[in-house]
Amino acid sequence: MSLAVESRGVTVRVPGKINLELVVGPLREDGYHELATVYHTVGVFDYVTVTAADTWSVQVSGATAAGVPTGSGNLALKAAKMLARRYGVEEAATLSIEKNIPVAGGMAGGSADAAAALVACESLWELQLTRDELEPIAARLGSDVPFLLHGGTAIGSGRGERLAPVLARGELHWVLWVSTESGLSTPDVYAECDRLREAAGTEAADPAPSGELIAALRTMQTAEVGAALRNDLQEAACSLYPVLREVLEAGTTLGAQGAIVSGSGPTVAFLVGTQAEAIDLSVGLAARGPAGDIRRATGPVAGAQVIQSVAPTGPHNFTG
Ligand code: ATP
Repeated sequence: MSLAVESRGVTVRVPGKINLELVVGPLREDGYHELATVYHTVGVFDYVTVTAADTWSVQVSGATAAGVPTGSGNLALKAAKMLARRYGVEEAATLSIEKNIPVAGGMAGGSADAAAALVACESLWELQLTRDELEPIAARLGSDVPFLLHGGTAIGSGRGERLAPVLARGELHWVLWVSTESGLSTPDVYAECDRLREAAGTEAADPAPSGELIAALRTMQTAEVGAALRNDLQEAACSLYPVLREVLEAGTTLGAQGAIVSGSGPTVAFLVGTQAEAIDLSVGLAARGPAGDIRRATGPVAGAQVIQSVAPTGPHNFTG
């Protein structure tokens, strides 16, 4: 292999997501639930760098690297290999992931890395594909992956993979409570949701996003958005992870205008009006709330973006 090929590398930055609304409908025959969700990216980022190599490998570093698989179970590696197979690319790559998105935290970190790997490899291999053309592969990798190719704020339907844009102007300020203990398994939380519904004798209706949230997002009025936050998995997440009730209570008492478990949890997102309020709330939560990592982030932000592309460096660069 030439030096030129070995030195090619592309870095992609990708955010995590929260769900401003997650309406869980009936269980489908394929084992997924029918969903209506409003996705929203927030500024907590992973970085995925792909470099041409003779064999496939993945390395993981960063604040939340613990517990992320470095073998064939890594979703970013699966994404890169699936793209290579689909487009007949015969090169392999090394993937280096710098993780900051909580793992098994309900922020879709694995899906984010998969979206980033698709965008990075598409650029590395010069496939000239649009985001829309990457979507079918993204949807096969996971329900949240298509959204993280685009980012922003969007409605997801089906099992979350069918996207429609939401008109949302301006930004929202969030304080995130991130568990420093174990995360929650998404299938476990859905199963608990089904169990609780069965015990209560409730049947899920066909899910639809609420008009209140969509209207509130049009003007980005914090109080209206905060009042319209909804997550049908919240009760199940709290049932499996009871400290979440205390976290939600603490943030609300400290003045948050909205409080919600993100996706399948256990990350909790608090909505406030300004950067200054975000600082006050994070200081209060750190002092008086249940133990956890407290982070501040704004949203929405763009989905997977190439931030660095190191061009091939031929031997002439080494001759001085
Ligand atoms: P979601 O919100 O999409 O349901 P999550 O945010 O709760 O997911 P993830 O952080 O995506 O959870 O991780 C779920 C599991 O996926 C982890 O426990 C881990 O074993 C596996 N995994 C595979 N690849 C990755 C990756 N690149 N980053 C994080 N986890 C990964």
